[in-house]
Amino acid sequence: MTYSYEAPVSQSLFDRAAAVTPGGVNSPVRAFGAVGGTPRFMVSGSGPYLTDADGREYVDLVCSWGPMILGHAHPEVTEAVRRAVDRGTSFGTPGEDEVALAEEIAGRIEPVERVRLVSSGTEATMSAIRLARGFTGRSKVIKFAGCYHGHVDALLASAGSGVATFGLPDTPGVTGATAGDTIVLPYNDLDAVREAFAAHPREIACVITEASPGNMGIVPPAEGFNQGLKDLCAADGALYVSDEVMTGFRVSKQGWYGIDGVTPDLMTFGKVMGGGFPAAAFGGRKDVMDHLAPAGPVYQAGTLSGNPVATAAGVAQLRLLAADGFAAYEKVDAASRQVRQLASEALAKEGVAHTLQTAGSMFSVFFGDFGERGVRNYEDAKRQESFRFTAFFHAMLAEGVYLPPSGFESWFVSAAHDERAVERIAEALPVAARAAAEAVAA
Ligand code: PLP
Repeated sequence: MTYSYEAPVSQSLFDRAAAVTPGGVNSPVRAFGAVGGTPRFMVSGSGPYLTDADGREYVDLVCSWGPMILGHAHPEVTEAVRRAVDRGTSFGTPGEDEVALAEEIAGRIEPVERVRLVSSGTEATMSAIRLARGFTGRSKVIKFAGCYHGHVDALLASAGSGVATFGLPDTPGVTGATAGDTIVLPYNDLDAVREAFAAHPREIACVITEASPGNMGIVPPAEGFNQGLKDLCAADGALYVSDEVMTGFRVSKQGWYGIDGVTPDLMTFGKVMGGGFPAAAFGGRKDVMDHLAPAGPVYQAGTLSGNPVATAAGVAQLRLLAADGFAAYEKVDAASRQVRQLASEALAKEGVAHTLQTAGSMFSVFFGDFGERGVRNYEDAKRQESFRFTAFFHAMLAEGVYLPPSGFESWFVSAAHDERAVERIAEALPVAARAAAEAVAA
């Protein structure tokens, strides 16, 4: 497929990158593999906009995959970073901003009695799983097909054949032994979880789930699903681990916990709490967290954990989000509502069957007819008409709107998505909706 616009500088950078980096990118989805074409090399961001190496400006609906909830280069976050850099960039000792960031998190989310800072969401989930195993003395882990928890070996296992099968490695390099303790179940299916607990009594260390999944597109938990998980875990002595790396501090001032109120034993965070820097965390019950070294025997560490620049950015962003009674969330929610409505209207006008699903301000569009039931799990999500998304994505890109380059991802807005940014999206949508309508399966 060819597209009606060029990106020669991005293309030459991509060629250079491919000569030194596998696939030319440092995280696969950036390569536009699902949609084809040249990934845009961005050179700057300001508020809701990104500018690429060819000098084209886009309204950004990716927001760095979630972190930039206040928009790019927010002056107060930038200033906090500048001050931190001037003081020195890494000490390998404890520092005050680490305490402040931990306090911001624990102060907002009651189930977090203790918190440990790390550098990525992957590290957070990996460490939470290790801690759950160390605390319970059990080895098995339940995860759900379509939920992504970073590239942790044990969590890359995807569904085998049917309920309660042991996961097979999803990628070369993950051994059967590593994946063998992972039980992969269909999302939103409590009976499957019940059966797994019945088949493996007191063997399951934890159930880990995205608090509200955003990595198969947006597929929120059915009414009672998270509470059901919590109850099944409690009955068996397993831990309920809620992965809020994507939703935390984004879909409400707390995250999905602020929406459904189900109390996890452990939680993981990343993205928004780092203010655009590599900072993440896991936390939860004091008695569980106190099993971590040096308080307890479960080892976990990091040279750059709680890095002073990253924590300064995180503290600044979380405090700005809290200002004026958490007013920023009203802006994010309003922008999300507007964009969702505009997208749905444009697609309906062109007769494009689609389902728009939301989790707070996060949302995604599934192309195709999913009826009343909508998209409830990964099997449903895989039935989307990806060829329509591809056409839609490229038309939006050509019109100056940067969408996630895959139909299996959430769209993100920020408090900086003002009227002008929304208007630009509104102008792009009719063309993109037409492209989606006219698209044909390859
Ligand atoms: N958990 C969830 C729910 C995520 O969405 C992600 C990343 O997208 C991760 C964990 C991994 O985080 P990171 O990419 O920072 O390692």
